[in-house]
Amino acid sequence: MIRKKILVTGGAGFLGSHLCERLLNEGNEVVCLDNYFTGQKQNVVHLLKNPFFELIRHDVTMPFYIEVDQIYNLACPASPIHYQYNPIKTVKTSVMGAINMLGLAKRIKARILQASTSEVYGDPEVHPQVESYWGHVNPIGIRSCYDEGKRIAETLFVNYHQQNNVRIKIMRIFNTYGPRMHPSDGRVVSNFIVQALRGENITIYGDGSQSRSFCYVDDLLEGMIRLMNSREDFTGPVNIGNPNEFTMLELAEKVIKLTGTDSKIIYMPLPADDPTQRQPNISLAKKELGWEPKVMLEEGLVKTIDYFKSIV
Ligand code: NAD
Ligand code: UDP
Repeated sequence: MIRKKILVTGGAGFLGSHLCERLLNEGNEVVCLDNYFTGQKQNVVHLLKNPFFELIRHDVTMPFYIEVDQIYNLACPASPIHYQYNPIKTVKTSVMGAINMLGLAKRIKARILQASTSEVYGDPEVHPQVESYWGHVNPIGIRSCYDEGKRIAETLFVNYHQQNNVRIKIMRIFNTYGPRMHPSDGRVVSNFIVQALRGENITIYGDGSQSRSFCYVDDLLEGMIRLMNSREDFTGPVNIGNPNEFTMLELAEKVIKLTGTDSKIIYMPLPADDPTQRQPNISLAKKELGWEPKVMLEEGLVKTIDYFKSIV
């Protein structure tokens, strides 16, 4: 087996730490780069004993040089409260991070995968979302630093590919959950589980009729790794997510049932520009990558609840 050298930016975060672990388990050499804004050393500390793992504190808005075969560009806060905390920094991370990593990929001729997002579709008028849909994004709203940052990153990826033959892969990730989500990162799955385990009120924003489609982390990583290693001329963008769609009220009821909590649901104001519906069309991923998710929501929630029981 050939041991690949792989760089993972944002590798100390939720998805990045699982990715580093899996790439190491598959026999690769992994360099994890992170500025610990939303990630933590704790997520990867168990990997430090592996001699093929390296951890580097670095901010992707600054240039970085290394020789690797592949780059997974995940660095960017993903939770609305975190990416809205310093919107200018969020844009810089997406845009300058993409430019720095694409420049590196060009120089060393590495393959590079961009962790893009279903947020490029904004509050979608096409349902379920297909890759050919251009989206419906407010360019000056509270989510735009993230949505537009990710959209321009996709533009940069395509331009570097067309202009400089950089070997790119664009992955549009839909809501993903699992162990190692930060307990206070404000995303809905972690919020509901932590509230349920603490016996606190479960906070539904709006009337709870808005929908999301939740993918378990293991399924998502399988899609990500298949995309990175897919045929050279398949660049994406490709949707990776679980097409089973639930309202936030249904999610809250599932969490209440699975945790056996006495917590009550309370309703709070809906944040501005909150997408009303979201569901991936995954036909392209099925066709090109032979990929589809396997973990049903309840099964994934049980694993995630077990994790949060061990930390809260
Ligand atoms: P996360 O916040 O847990 O991880 C992001 C990581 O990037 C953190 O470790 C953080 O410290 C690091 N980071 C942030 N800014 C950085 C910078 N300037 N330089 C270096 N490191 C930096 O979020 P996650 O859920 O693991 O998301 C990972 C990637 O996947 C993100 O790019 C996100 O946009 C994308 N994504 C995630 C989801 C999801 O549901 N989890 C959905 C769509 C897209
Ligand atoms: N949400 C909620 N209660 C919470 C946190 C989030 O009802 O405590 C809602 C939020 O308004 C959104 C959905 O859950 O409609 C998903 O939110 P999340 O922040 O997880 O991700 P995103 O909006 O980026 O899909």
